[in-house]
Amino acid sequence: MASFPRQWDDGTTDGPDHHVHWYDERTAIIRQSLRTNFEGPFIYLLLGSERALLLDTGTGHTDLRAVVDELLEGRDLELVVAHTHGHGDHVGGDAQFDAVVGRSAADVAEYFGITSWPEQLVQFDLGERVLDVIPIPGHHPAHVAFYDRETRLLLTGDSLYPGRLYVFDWPAFRQSVERLAGFVAAGNPVELVLGTHIEMTRQPGVDFDLGADRHPGEHELQLDPAVLTELAEVLSEAGPEPRRIVRDHFIVYPVETPTRETSHTQGAVQAD
Ligand SMILES: [Zn+2]
Repeated sequence: MASFPRQWDDGTTDGPDHHVHWYDERTAIIRQSLRTNFEGPFIYLLLGSERALLLDTGTGHTDLRAVVDELLEGRDLELVVAHTHGHGDHVGGDAQFDAVVGRSAADVAEYFGITSWPEQLVQFDLGERVLDVIPIPGHHPAHVAFYDRETRLLLTGDSLYPGRLYVFDWPAFRQSVERLAGFVAAGNPVELVLGTHIEMTRQPGVDFDLGADRHPGEHELQLDPAVLTELAEVLSEAGPEPRRIVRDHFIVYPVETPTRETSHTQGAVQAD
C-alpha cells in the first residue's frame, strides 16, 4: 500500500539526518534533514529484481551511504547511483559511493543509451521494473525525469516540485515541460508527480524565505499530475520571454545570470 508520512521532517524538531519512508515495498523516499542543509533534498531509491537505482546523493553533509547500505542490506542488488541533475545539492554525496553515473548531459545520455538528446526517451530496466528516462534540460543541462511504470510515479527532480522552479535556460525548459506533458498525454498514466524539494507552504502561492532551514506548515511533497498540465499551460502562455509566474503549488523562477554551479538556487541565493 503506497503511502506518505503525515509530515516530513521539516527542520523544526530534532531527529536523524535522514527521514526515510518506504512508499511501497520497493520504493524508498529519503529526505535529507533541513537541519543538515537548508536545501533538504529528497532522494529516491527504487528497487528492481536485479538493480537498485539511487537518484541523487544529497548535499554531502550527511552519511547517505550508511543509510543506503542499511536499506539494501540482505538484498542481492546491483546499486546504480545516478542523478536527476548535476547541481551540488544533488551530487554532494557522490564520493561516498563506489561508482556514479556522470553529471554532464553527454555522460547521462551515454549511460542510459540516449543517442538523440534531449528528444529521445529510453527505458531503463531495474529487473521486472521498467523506468522511462525523459531528458528535460532547462533547470540544468543534464536534467532527466524518470517515469516508473510500476507505481506510475513521475520523478521530476528540480524541474517540478512544490517550490521555486529555477529556470536557467528558458527555451529549453519550455520545450522540456512540453515533452514531459506530451509523454503523459500520450497515454502514460501518472499517479503522482514527485520532485526533490519543498519550498512552498500550505498557503497557496506562498513560499518559504530563500535559504530557510525550517519549514513549519510545509506543502506536501506529492503533486497531482494536473499540476504538470498547469505548468505546461502557463509556460506556453508565457511565451519566449522569461518571467516569474506564481501559482498555488509552484513558482516559475527565471534566473538570468547564473554565476556558480554549486546549487539549484545558484544565482538566486548565495548557496553554500
Ligand atoms: Zn537543481
